[in-house]
Amino acid sequence: MKSHNLKLYNTLSRKKENFQAINPPFVGLYVCGPTVYGDAHLGHARPAITFDTVNRYLTHLDYRVRYVRNITDVGHLQGDADEGEDKIAKKAKLEKLEPMEIAQQYTDSYHRDMALLNTWKPNIEPRATGHIPEQIALVEAILKEGLAYEVNGSVYFDTLKYNEKTPYGRLSGRVIEELMSGSRDLDGQSEKRNPVDFALWKNAAPEHLMKWESPWGIGFPGWHLECTAMSSKYLGNHFDIHGGGMDLMFPHHECEIAQGNACNHQDPVNYWMHNNMITINGQKMGKSLGNFITLQELFKGEHKLLEQAYSPMTIRYFILTAHYRSTLDFSNDALKAAQKGYKKLINGLRIAKMLEYQTSDVPVDEKQIEQIENSITNAYRAMDDDFNTAQAIGHLFNLLKKINSIYTGQLKPAVFGEEVFSKLISTFITFVEDILGLTEEKSDTQNKMINLLLTLYSEAKTARDYAKVDEIRAGLKDLGFVVKDMKDKIDWAYEE
Ligand SMILES: [Zn+2]
Repeated sequence: MKSHNLKLYNTLSRKKENFQAINPPFVGLYVCGPTVYGDAHLGHARPAITFDTVNRYLTHLDYRVRYVRNITDVGHLQGDADEGEDKIAKKAKLEKLEPMEIAQQYTDSYHRDMALLNTWKPNIEPRATGHIPEQIALVEAILKEGLAYEVNGSVYFDTLKYNEKTPYGRLSGRVIEELMSGSRDLDGQSEKRNPVDFALWKNAAPEHLMKWESPWGIGFPGWHLECTAMSSKYLGNHFDIHGGGMDLMFPHHECEIAQGNACNHQDPVNYWMHNNMITINGQKMGKSLGNFITLQELFKGEHKLLEQAYSPMTIRYFILTAHYRSTLDFSNDALKAAQKGYKKLINGLRIAKMLEYQTSDVPVDEKQIEQIENSITNAYRAMDDDFNTAQAIGHLFNLLKKINSIYTGQLKPAVFGEEVFSKLISTFITFVEDILGLTEEKSDTQNKMINLLLTLYSEAKTARDYAKVDEIRAGLKDLGFVVKDMKDKIDWAYEE
């Protein structure tokens, strides 16, 4: 493994800790995936990109990551509580489709959008409906420990009894007494002994669409159960990193900790990581607020709040320009700035791939070398400091300045010496493509077409046909490309 001092912020301890894998070089990473009953929106993009970057950086450091991200296709009830309709079943009724058709349709569209955002696929993507026996076994184990109880075919976790031995609420910083007093007892209607108890298994009414046989009758699993069942199946009862959005910290992740402890008498996870939320023009995103933007609407520019379309890489870049634990506000201005920044970086990437070392009689400049070495060290330091992509990007722009100076001929490659020149180029490319996951967005034929136009441009220039020269330049500009007419070469770049 590359020698690094990686620190990450552990929500459980509320501080940055040195990362120590349980069984290096292996790392188990579990992230809560989508509930597939609607199109992916901005709120899905942030955790996907955050933990993709975590996965990419750990992989870059030579860890062997097993990344598990689930698909919730049953058991997630409206309002995230134990009452109300199943989100997928409700959508299925509305659309007059099978619940599994809804789950399939939105799993497919989620995969499409995540691929556009250039996120690596998880190594395992388990579905809740594919793990019903595992979930039933978990409920049985918790019952056996005396930490759950059955009422009318439903099974609830006995939070108060659990709390006698293991404090409940450590992750979110809640205290059970406050939770008790803050919860509504549903007019004595609830089957729960205490309002803080949560469902492990729910009895299904005859009209309920998704249901399975169990020792307690026909029913379906509680939402929190699947993540414990699937993470322990694929990563073990005690694994390295569990990620998700901050909104999942309570009750979802708190319940996962309780379930894991109840069965295995140990905390299931070493490091809990949570990404912060996205706001839109300073407001929380919500369907009722009319500012709910799906990723497809963003990519196509089809939403009343959008002044233009924003490409998937612009969105990815934008999300990476903030630290994952900071809030991030979407606005047209911020997105346009991100588009500019992304294009700058990608122009640099194109150039970096073209540049070659040339020997010349220019002497090596120690100051230049020091600047490069510092920027590289600082970029790594930023990533080692709880995956601070925002700062890392800042240091990449320092490297980009050098790359641009070589490109324009202001600096000769020889001032860096061959070794440092190669390091500059390879570090820049590695950071942009492998670690940050930013790629050039182009069709296969784009470059060939532009090169053809540049040949015509060059011929027109030699023939002094300046009307043609201007026509080609203007035509390319309309398509978002700038002609770079330099002393000894003609090239193009994305308009920034
Ligand atoms: Zn989960």
